[in-house]
This record gives sequence, C-alpha cells and structure tokens, in this order.
Amino acid sequence: MKKNRYLRQIPLLGEEGQRKLKNSKVAIVGVGGLGTNVSQILVLMGVGRVLLVDHDKVSESNLNRQVLFMEKDIGKPKVAVAKERLEELNPETNIEVVQEKVYNDNIDNILRSYRIIVDCLDNWYSRKILDSYIWRKGKVLVHGAVNGFYGQVTTIKKGITTCLSCLFPEPGKKEFIPAIGPAVTLVASIQVMEVAKIITNIGTPLYNRIAVVDSLEPSISVIGVKPLDCGLCSS
Ligand SMILES: [Zn+2]
Repeated sequence: MKKNRYLRQIPLLGEEGQRKLKNSKVAIVGVGGLGTNVSQILVLMGVGRVLLVDHDKVSESNLNRQVLFMEKDIGKPKVAVAKERLEELNPETNIEVVQEKVYNDNIDNILRSYRIIVDCLDNWYSRKILDSYIWRKGKVLVHGAVNGFYGQVTTIKKGITTCLSCLFPEPGKKEFIPAIGPAVTLVASIQVMEVAKIITNIGTPLYNRIAVVDSLEPSISVIGVKPLDCGLCSS
C-alpha cells in the first residue's frame, strides 16, 4: 500500500482503518449517476476490491451526471468503461465487473463473495430483488436513491434494522426520473461514508435512520425509523 497516496486521510481513518479499506471488498449494483460517483470515491479512498454490476451501455443522456463516462464512450458497456477509468484512478484497487441485470436466479452467483453491497440502482423492481437477497444472506446494504433535487440514504442490516421493503412498501413505479449532478453526488458521498464507517468502525452507520437530502435548500435531515414487521424481516 502506497502510504503517501493516503497521507491526508490516514489521520482520519488511522493506519489500521486504511489497511481495513485495502483489505475490503465492496459491490456496487448499478453504474449510473450514483454508481459512477460511489465507485470513483471508493477507489480513490483505497478500497481493495470493487465489483461493478450493470447490464447497460453508456448513452448521451447519462453524461450530465455519470462522472466516469465521456462522449467517446457512448454505446460501450458501462462496466467496461468504468473499470478502465477506475484502474487509471487507482491501480491499487482490483475492479471486477459483471455485465448483467440482477434477478433472483443470478444474484447469488454475482454477489456471493461480497458482504457490503451498495444500492446504486434506479428502479425498485431490481432493488426489491437486492433487498430480499441481502436479507436472506445477512449482508449489509447501503441504499441510496435520487429523485430530482432530492435523495435518500439508509443502511440495512439484518438483526439491527428493518428491511428496505418495510421502509418503502409502495415506492413509485418506474418512470422518467429527472436527475442533476449535485444531488446525485451528495447522495453518493453519503453512501461512500456509510461504507467507510462500516469497514473502519468510525462513526455510526445510518441504521434505523434515513438521511434525506435536499440539494436545493440545501439540507440533510436524518430521520429515525422504527423497525416494522413484514413478510421478509419478521420471518
Ligand atoms: Zn421487512
């Protein structure tokens, strides 16, 4: 590990914390606005291994907020382009990619060796599949979502929190969701800090709390939530 690379953050995380980052593995599901920002910051911080999962290709309308992509990437698979850029940003991080959408029948193959999973998806259909999976396997999910100027982050862990489906039982159906860089990057930054807190044991993760982000006001409100019972987390 190149210590000088992390000189400015080691006072915050400690050498032990930095080593923990280096020895950790984080899966990022969805490589859009949130996923490109989350992966970029995590890789710069020195996380040892990152898995990127996304089936999609880069399109022109991604370029206003998806920080790893350039005009010349339009039409290329997002995970392949992101891997190339991230490896240039920090050669010390191993980048794995899976160019697939997650379904109930492939998700364990994709995420089996990852305990910390970052939800950077843009739809609740896939998110519910992810939620049910991390619950069954007792993994940690750092959920993030953006809608226009607003967004939210919470961290889900069996035994401590309720499942994501309990928190958001009837999320909106898939539609055209407006998105602007500053709101996306704010939400992504909070997600990365959640991951860093979990790995290095600094601070308190957003267990049973939701950070609600308003990039216009601007404000970040942290709202406490009570665990509820549902078919998923009460069973
Ligand atoms: Zn539940």
